[in-house]
Amino acid sequence: MQHRRGIDLTSSKNRHILLETPEFEWETFESLPQWFELFAGCACGSFKHVNRHELAKRWGKSTYIKTLSGRLRCTACGQKGKSAFWLHKAPR
Ligand SMILES: [Zn+2]
Repeated sequence: MQHRRGIDLTSSKNRHILLETPEFEWETFESLPQWFELFAGCACGSFKHVNRHELAKRWGKSTYIKTLSGRLRCTACGQKGKSAFWLHKAPR
């Protein structure tokens, strides 16, 4: 099914993996395989794609990704520190 813009929250979130799991919590921008895309999910329900390359440029590629979740400000509700990173394996 095609969507004109954005992502379908209900169906896509199930296919995403929470970054803060034992498997991924110590990934850095450098160590995280290129085929994973980053998303930020907020407590308010907002779920957005984030550009991992921009974050890596800003914070350094050897930064643990999960340490930045507290710095994310949600563009929907404006709250900081309510978001968590999610991963999505991009089709290759
Ligand atoms: Zn929010």
